[in-house]
Amino acid sequence: MAQPPFSALDAAAFLGALPDPLLHLRADGGVTLNASAQERLGELKAGQDWASLFLPDTAATLTAAAERARRGETVRVSVRVLDNVAPALVTLTPDGRGGVLLHLRKARDPLEVALELMDGLNLGMTVQDAEARTLYANQAAQEILGLSLAQLTGQATMDEQWRAVHPDGEAFVAGTNPASRSLRDGLVHRDVPMGIFHPPSGEWRWLSVTSVPRRAPGTERPEQVTSVFQDVTEQWQMQAEVRRSEQRFRSLVEASAQIVWSAEPDGSFQPPQPAWEAFTGQSPAQYAGEGWLEAVHPDDRAQTLLDWQQAVAENGPHLTEHRLRRVDGQYVPMQVRAMPVFGPDGQLREWIGTYTDISPVREAEAHLRELNATLEQRVQERTQELAQVTRFSTLLLGAAGEGIFGLDPQGRTTFANPAAARILGYGIERMIGLRQHELIHHHHEDGGVFPVEACPILHTLQDGQTRRIEQDVFWHAQGYPVPIAYVVTPTLDDQGRPSGAVVMFQDVTERRRAQQKLQDAIRELERSNENLEQFAYVVSHDLQEPLRTLSSYTELLVRRHRGELGERGDQYLEFMQDAVTRMRSLIQDLLAFARVGHAERPDKPQEISLAALGQQAAANVQGVLQASGGVLELQLSHEVMGHPTLLAQLLTNLISNGLKFHRAGKPPHVIVRSKQQGGIVQVSVQDNGIGIEPEHHERVFTIFQRLHGRGDFPGNGIGLAICRKIVEHHGGRLWLDSAPDQGSTFTFTLPAAVPFPSP
Ligand code: ADP
Repeated sequence: MAQPPFSALDAAAFLGALPDPLLHLRADGGVTLNASAQERLGELKAGQDWASLFLPDTAATLTAAAERARRGETVRVSVRVLDNVAPALVTLTPDGRGGVLLHLRKARDPLEVALELMDGLNLGMTVQDAEARTLYANQAAQEILGLSLAQLTGQATMDEQWRAVHPDGEAFVAGTNPASRSLRDGLVHRDVPMGIFHPPSGEWRWLSVTSVPRRAPGTERPEQVTSVFQDVTEQWQMQAEVRRSEQRFRSLVEASAQIVWSAEPDGSFQPPQPAWEAFTGQSPAQYAGEGWLEAVHPDDRAQTLLDWQQAVAENGPHLTEHRLRRVDGQYVPMQVRAMPVFGPDGQLREWIGTYTDISPVREAEAHLRELNATLEQRVQERTQELAQVTRFSTLLLGAAGEGIFGLDPQGRTTFANPAAARILGYGIERMIGLRQHELIHHHHEDGGVFPVEACPILHTLQDGQTRRIEQDVFWHAQGYPVPIAYVVTPTLDDQGRPSGAVVMFQDVTERRRAQQKLQDAIRELERSNENLEQFAYVVSHDLQEPLRTLSSYTELLVRRHRGELGERGDQYLEFMQDAVTRMRSLIQDLLAFARVGHAERPDKPQEISLAALGQQAAANVQGVLQASGGVLELQLSHEVMGHPTLLAQLLTNLISNGLKFHRAGKPPHVIVRSKQQGGIVQVSVQDNGIGIEPEHHERVFTIFQRLHGRGDFPGNGIGLAICRKIVEHHGGRLWLDSAPDQGSTFTFTLPAAVPFPSP
């Protein structure tokens, strides 16, 4: 029968000699400390609890662990002991008799501490043999790789299920992972980035792996390799994010700037500056230090340097503008910006700056300035013009006797002048904004409603046509109609559409009244004229009858009793006969006058040749002409519209007057002429006779008015009255030009037969 190990050993002696502190917690409740324990923890006094030898939290941990060990379990705990700041490893083992052996490891194994430390730092560690099979993997390694110890152990690293990749996504070819390479080449491979698939999370993780080979003494080929690795996924992601945003920022800056440059913290400009070189054509030797200023326009250098030095002195943002010489020699206006870049330690690391071409901005500014200048000038001019126009129109509106108001497209009053307010009895303010039709134009003069749809002013607002209305009424504020005549004129917008209207109106009350009076007078005159004519006609007609009787009996008396009444009686009879003859001629003349234009006349107006008319008149005056020894000249050529008998009488009268009223000893010379002006023919009868005093020029046309005694010139004084009546009956005029001893010219007008005769 085989002996159990250490069966010959005196356990008590061994335990007492053990250099590690040992406590025996016996089943009977007693506690024994070995020498080392007494030395490290102190004597246990009678009745004192063993646990009080430890720190309170350590005591609680150990009491609980002791309880488990008492039930047969071996328990290991890591605790802090009084004199040992680093944790000590305590093993509690059942003593086989109901008690517990509590063993404190005196000094900790550095490897153990290291392993613990690695777990604490979450550094994974694996140890593989020469065939790359995993011999050991710490807790952190299991967690990082997402595999249990059982899954890891015995497995060759990097076998297919490990899916490891390089940062570019390429898989690690078998045998190229750092551990395998270390086994092969015996070298340390540090910080190898490696992506692995992490099964529990289903994600890829990034590791940084360092593999260290271990050679057995005296052998060439490594027999083991230890790999230490760290999960750097988060750092990687962060770095990638930083790289991405930096890239984004860089492309943004490069896209918006012509040149991106950097400078040392002290402000000096050091190569390489590829963008600067490309733009300016300066070589690094040329621009280094302050050489770059040479590419700046000479006039801008001082200010630029000043700005830059100030920014560098203050570590603040730099903003300036200058003209920068391009490689082709052209100066380009640029805006320069630079920002100080600080490191994580707060120290200024460098300056990053940009150049942006602002020539488009400068050009636009110049153009705008120019535009602004002309605009300002035009605005000024227009304002002046407008002020003048406004002053003028205000004056005009105020001074005008006509009422004037403006309307908007809806027919609401926009302005009204004082005359409008006065005529209509409203204050100007009262009218503004009100619909004018409803205020003053709602009814017709006869009291009938005036619907706005029928209002000519509204029609003008709609169709933009000017309208003139001669007879209408506007209603006064006190409710009575004011007779008016008005013109409504549209105002038009830019597109020529009506944007309102201006109404100008006159109060025609007075005009209407005057017209009425005139019409009344005319009617009155016509009536009395008619009466007069009627009277003249009746009188002359009826007088003929008794006159005929008188004349017959006078003749009878003469014939039968001449010589019986003595010389005197015969003379009286002669007077009677003369008077009867004269009276007959007067009555006949009066009748002739009354008959002119009388409706009972048979002939109608017709085309008459003045030449023919002249011949007829000449024939009529043939006797007188011969007796006087005078001359009659006819220069007549036009055609007129009229009554032939009346016109023949007219011409005959005038010619015979001309022949009759000649100066003594001077034979008469009468010239008759005609001329046409448009639709009017003018005929003049000129003589070289005695002439007429200007004060009698009108009198001679009055019936029975004569300027001479019957002894000088015979006549009844009715000829010119008949002449004027004939001319007026034809719608013409008869007048005379004359002075004593200068001859007379009688002129009359008649309607032409052909308005515009061909010449
Ligand atoms: P009567 O010839 O019968 O007197 P009229 O009516 O023809 O009547 O003329 C009125 C008056 O006008 C004449 O009496 C004469 O004094 C004056 N008169 C008319 N014609 C002429 C003339 N051609 N020259 C001068 N006086 C004239």
